[in-house]
Amino acid sequence: MSESSKPSAFETVNRLFNQAADLLGLSETKRIELTTPYRELMVRLPLLTEQGEVRVFRGYRVQHDNSRGPMKGGIRFHPDADLDEVRALASLMTWKTAVVNLPYGGAKGGIQCNPRELSELDLERLTRRFAQRMEGFIGPREDIPGPDMGTNARVMAWMMDEYSKFHGYSPGVVTGKPLELGGSEGRVSATGRGLFFAVERIAPDIGMELNGARVAVQGFGNVGYWAARFLSDAGCKVVAVSDVEGTLRCADGLDIEALREVAEQKGSVIHYDGADCERLHRDELIASDCDILVPAALGGTIHAGNAGSIRARLIAEGANHPTTPEADGILIERGITVLPDIYANAGGVTVSYFEWVQNLQQQRWDAERVDRELREVMHEAFDALNTAAEEFDVDLRTAAFVVAIRRVAEAARLRGLH
Ligand code: GLU
Repeated sequence: MSESSKPSAFETVNRLFNQAADLLGLSETKRIELTTPYRELMVRLPLLTEQGEVRVFRGYRVQHDNSRGPMKGGIRFHPDADLDEVRALASLMTWKTAVVNLPYGGAKGGIQCNPRELSELDLERLTRRFAQRMEGFIGPREDIPGPDMGTNARVMAWMMDEYSKFHGYSPGVVTGKPLELGGSEGRVSATGRGLFFAVERIAPDIGMELNGARVAVQGFGNVGYWAARFLSDAGCKVVAVSDVEGTLRCADGLDIEALREVAEQKGSVIHYDGADCERLHRDELIASDCDILVPAALGGTIHAGNAGSIRARLIAEGANHPTTPEADGILIERGITVLPDIYANAGGVTVSYFEWVQNLQQQRWDAERVDRELREVMHEAFDALNTAAEEFDVDLRTAAFVVAIRRVAEAARLRGLH
């Protein structure tokens, strides 16, 4: 445990790892081997801002495991992106890529900053500085960064351009690029679409009719918006959406496109003008009267203090580690089904993989192919989770870790300890 009594994010992930490792009877040596990160980089990034100020930021890249292939994972620009958080997210990427059976290991990076406070030019300089520090450690066959919170196709373009200055034109070094620079169709919406495929797959198993099902979405960033959009397109009624400024609840259902316009123009969903809508504190989203809850914001938003108030029957985790282990116990006890993050939000990295494959083969897939293959990956992974859940009589999160650990442990064994 860390100094404070609250476990660190990395300890929390390892707690989940150990629960599944117990079921698999994994030896202590194997556990150490599989949880110890391969490499951790911390760099200082001096930036001469447009205002003429010098500010020094911290940047991280934690490369967790490469037993199953090059390491893969996003880069986050966020004030909370410290070493512990990035380390936890890097290990989650190892388990995530294994759950959906992509030939990758896991990594994660971040710059501890608030991108909203930086100008476009400052962000570009900071990104390029980060790429300069990282260029010796990343690469199409080594470690392939992608987008995450606070980063987007623009940032990925700068990363690719900077890396290419050192190594020659290398579109396969990052994913989530703009289409014009070797990005893939469907990458922007991929996490939301993958989450939808997961929900679509489990719905009949839990006797849920998607048409008319009521949905609450926490967070209206890229993941939250697209998840809401696809669920709504399938006939669900999105009855509540929140962002940092508050919760907007509307029992009659929200028009997602109109909501997006308002959020873009006015800065928050709470400015939406619906006749029967009410505005509440952002934390109240969790307790919304709904059938499906989609946490798509930061980690730790479902905790012991609010898990008891959840009214949804199904939780589909769009965010990474939104549920604390204590909350998990409460949800299991209350019979609420959880589609865990390392499965439910794996659509993003899956389409990143498709992008990388297209880059390496110098090919282009159309949107229809991307969607078809993503659906197949998400449905196949669900079957693997379901089988493990039945085999060990456990919840889907534990089952996901069982599936992932088996795959990574076997690859590590076959490669040998080196
Ligand atoms: N940031 C995404 C995740 O947490 C995907 C990263 C990537 O595409 O490499 O899964």
